[in-house]
Amino acid sequence: MLPENIEFVPCDICNENSPVPMFEENGFILNRCNQCGHFYVSPRPSSGSNHGSEEEIPSPSIHVSDELRRKPTFERYVNYIKRYVPKGKWLDIGCGCGTLLQVASQNGFEVEGVEISPDRLAYCRDAGLKAYGRDIEADLLPPSSYDVISLINVFSHLRSPITTFSSIHRILRGNGVILVATSELGKKAYKDEVENWHIPDHLHFAGPNTFQSIASKLNLKVSYVSRSLTQKIVLSEKLYYRSNHALVQLIKMMLQYIPGLIDLTAGIMCLSKGYRYQRHEVVVLLHRRI
Ligand SMILES: [Zn+2]
Repeated sequence: MLPENIEFVPCDICNENSPVPMFEENGFILNRCNQCGHFYVSPRPSSGSNHGSEEEIPSPSIHVSDELRRKPTFERYVNYIKRYVPKGKWLDIGCGCGTLLQVASQNGFEVEGVEISPDRLAYCRDAGLKAYGRDIEADLLPPSSYDVISLINVFSHLRSPITTFSSIHRILRGNGVILVATSELGKKAYKDEVENWHIPDHLHFAGPNTFQSIASKLNLKVSYVSRSLTQKIVLSEKLYYRSNHALVQLIKMMLQYIPGLIDLTAGIMCLSKGYRYQRHEVVVLLHRRI
């Protein structure tokens, strides 16, 4: 049952107010925009509510071990970028404890980060990284000054993706690249397919056309898209640490080195859990046109 008297808000991407309700969590509705297929939350939580609250943010010591597990993924992101931008200035928005910045720096980029959590910001600065605690929508960063701007698992938290991407467009150089990694839903979303959707900490989920729609509004060009089953990403991250059990380690090595086995296993996991619409982790590169 959906709560009554929900104040539905227009889609942030296409501005149409034609929401199709998916489910309720914590008194909020996740809608799919009937016009552009983007997923977003109604009503908007008021500022000062629990959106992005500190108590939901793990401490840097927990977060950094999570980032280290994802280091092979960050290395893959840097390799994507180097195909288009071999060197230059890289800004990571929502840089956490700075692991992606460290990887980019080791690959010759001049790196800076933005992080709103004071603990993680302090962690980055203690590690010698240049990091800002500022809101990038406040127009405080200099225009046309970055070659690469990344948002890794940040998109879902944005209050207004169009406003944030407009700000990013302003500080990106011509031919510069935006790297986005986030969850992408398909035609529908079911509450029981995710243990906790973290709504309203999460306010947006990409649909299949979300980034194409953002690009066409802001004079950007989508130059690369890669989709992986969310279950495959979860499995891949578990392979990072070596197991003390010989059989478990053997299975891990088989998953890593036998082509296609990890995709097959992820597909079987989705089927066995009864997932009706598969979720993906999407990586998108958008170029700023000159
Ligand atoms: Zn829309």
